[in-house]
Amino acid sequence: MKFHPLTGEFARAADETEFLTSQLPRTRPLLGFSLLFCVVFFQFFFLTDIAALGLDTALRETLPARLGVALNGGVCAWLAYRRPLSVRGTRLAASSAEILSLGCFMVVALARPNEVHWHALSMVVIQVVIYLYIPNRLAYATAIASGGVVVFLALVHYMLPPRPIADLFTMGLLLAMINTFGILAARRFNRVAREEFRLQTQLKRLAGRDQLTGCYNRHYLNAHLLGAELARARRFGHAVSVVLCDIDHFKHINDTFGHHQGDNVIQNFAALLQRMTRQGVDAVVRYGGEEFLLILPETGPAGATVLADRLRDAFAALTFTVDGEPVPTSASFGVAAFDFASADLRVTLPDLIVAADKQLYAAKRKGRNRVESVELAA
Ligand code: GH3
Ligand code: MG
Ligand code: MG
Repeated sequence: MKFHPLTGEFARAADETEFLTSQLPRTRPLLGFSLLFCVVFFQFFFLTDIAALGLDTALRETLPARLGVALNGGVCAWLAYRRPLSVRGTRLAASSAEILSLGCFMVVALARPNEVHWHALSMVVIQVVIYLYIPNRLAYATAIASGGVVVFLALVHYMLPPRPIADLFTMGLLLAMINTFGILAARRFNRVAREEFRLQTQLKRLAGRDQLTGCYNRHYLNAHLLGAELARARRFGHAVSVVLCDIDHFKHINDTFGHHQGDNVIQNFAALLQRMTRQGVDAVVRYGGEEFLLILPETGPAGATVLADRLRDAFAALTFTVDGEPVPTSASFGVAAFDFASADLRVTLPDLIVAADKQLYAAKRKGRNRVESVELAA
């Protein structure tokens, strides 16, 4: 997970999408709150319109713009709170509220032409809000905030009473400075949030994997696989198979060649299981010391037995040598399958694992290096 040097976002689009999607439960209320807060404050300033212009003129010249902001901001805030907005939806709401509010702010500035310095100060506040409080993509925030500054300066120069050029220049420089600080702060903010996400992702990955083999561990099996795979199989009425496999006479390998060589055999067995199963579909779990569990979605008893036999064959064909001496290896496999199309909702994956375990022991009893299978009846 690398970062984009300019924006502090993830360089890879898939990482960025994963991050943003994971943040949606936080982004939406933040967007709603920021917009509501701004809208309410913006309405309070109508009192200053009245003070500056008198009630009649204020009602005529600035109230429509202020109500426009309230309507747009209010609708976007409501959407953010009440609707399952996507990442795109939140960005659209944020950008449209920002653009419309800036437009209405210009209308108010035009209506009160003698308060340019206050308007410039308001622009500073608007920049801070856009960069730091309204969650939006940095590129969009930069375009909107910088565009707002340019339009505001053009407005001051061309449409308001003439001012000394030094005044305009100072104002422009100050606004450019706050704009740059806004970008830098937003970039740092992006980066910090994503560093945290990256660490969490790494920790989650580590917590779910076995260190020696890189396969899923029991914790991951219980937390993420059992329930999810069962739910999927039931929903779509698929068959599911599980395979329990255990290396034969492994104690002998450990005792004869040492634990280090034993570890090496386990790693090779695990690599073979991962290589020969479907990536992203099947799950390979280190179930015990040299015992592995395969979960094979959408696989019936025949397919699972053929796969187990292929694995058995491939492992038996691996040649390990220690000090030039061959170390014979083999493994036994227990297969259990159930077809969830049969609509028996009492069968669970743990039931299948128990059944596969029985088959594994049958395979051991019958002489090892073999596959035993069962299909659970509804
Ligand atoms: P069987 O054919 O009946 O399976 O005989 P076995 O000798 O393989 O018996 P069992 O499956 O009970 O042996 C498991 C052994 O695996 C015992 C334990 O010392 C060893 N073991 C468990 N975890 C590890 C590990 O991480 N590394 C090594 N090197 N050995 C391990
Ligand atoms: Mg064993
Ligand atoms: Mg064992």
